Amino acid sequence: MKPAPFDYVRADSVEGALSALAEQPEARVLAGGQSLIAMMNLRLLKPGCLIDINRLSELDYIRAEGDELAIGALTRHTAAATSPLVAEHCPLMTAAYGHIANRAVRNRGTVGGNLCHADPASENPAVAIASGATLVLTSLDGERRIAAEDFFLSLYETAAEQNELLTEIRIPKAPANQGWSFQEVSTRKGDFALVGVAATLDCPNGTCSDARVVAVGVGERAERLGAAETAIKGAVVDEAGLAAAAAAARDAVDPPSDFHADSEFRRDLVFTLTRRALGEAHGRCGKGG
Ligand SMILES: Cc1cc2nc3c(=O)[nH]c(=O)nc-3n(C[C@H](O)[C@H](O)[C@H](O)COP(=O)(O)OP(=O)(O)OC[C@H]3O[C@@H](n4cnc5c(N)ncnc54)[C@H](O)[C@@H]3O)c2cc1C
Repeated sequence: MKPAPFDYVRADSVEGALSALAEQPEARVLAGGQSLIAMMNLRLLKPGCLIDINRLSELDYIRAEGDELAIGALTRHTAAATSPLVAEHCPLMTAAYGHIANRAVRNRGTVGGNLCHADPASENPAVAIASGATLVLTSLDGERRIAAEDFFLSLYETAAEQNELLTEIRIPKAPANQGWSFQEVSTRKGDFALVGVAATLDCPNGTCSDARVVAVGVGERAERLGAAETAIKGAVVDEAGLAAAAAAARDAVDPPSDFHADSEFRRDLVFTLTRRALGEAHGRCGKGG
């Protein structure tokens, strides 16, 4: 199918993109187009205008800044997946890229577009939440920052207002002794997750002092599994501790059934992948990743 008719504006500056967004309430930002164009072709979306930000090279960067890693919203997946800075300071993201799409899509798709698309089976929202990332949203009114945990609202829905551009993702540098893991099962390599689990774990003396567990493919958005975190925090990370956290994760989700997998299978995957993710994260604790 072809998309419904739309106007097209090619932004030459961030200010230009923001002005165009403010002037055109029916507009959508066009980044890599890997999700937006497909949705337009299926007529699931009919934006009156596309504001193309692909020439905004000022939004295409990866930098280490103090305690944080700063990723410009227009950074292509491939650049993030192969970045030594990302590997050093957010190895969880590098690991997740082993599961994201194919080379052609990664060459075009952007980190910012991926997050703004907010697919509930997408990996990077889980990475952003598990890493405690902050998203920088910019409009003509200025800049506001929002925790990744508060950004993803529902299916393809985020806390970004229509006139806001996601400009940057800021991720606290992973502590050297923190363990991490991204586990996923998908129908084929590079497909969206049937279920994916991102985990970080701090475990200074064999006992877990902090953990984050986030699942995708289990609902309308990436879900932080607080019950699993509570189960493992303060516990000795052994087989019993891992099984208890995995059971808490499984009991906390109510995944959908669809053509690819039913709800019960997804819940079993949440159990298995949570146990695997926390176990692998534990194995990496204290080893600098
Ligand atoms: C075959 C295939 C397989 C894929 N597999 C996976 C996968 O396994 N995992 C996965 O996570 N993704 C997967 N994707 C999706 C891919 O990651 C897309 O690149 C991503 O979802 C969208 O990024 P984009 O830059 O192409 O954004 P676009 O498609 O251009 O935009 C997506 C949405 O975000 C908005 N947007 C974009 N940038 C901004 C911004 N800076 N500020 C505000 N709004 C913005 C757009 O208006 C639109 O609503 C796949 C895609 C394809 C085609």
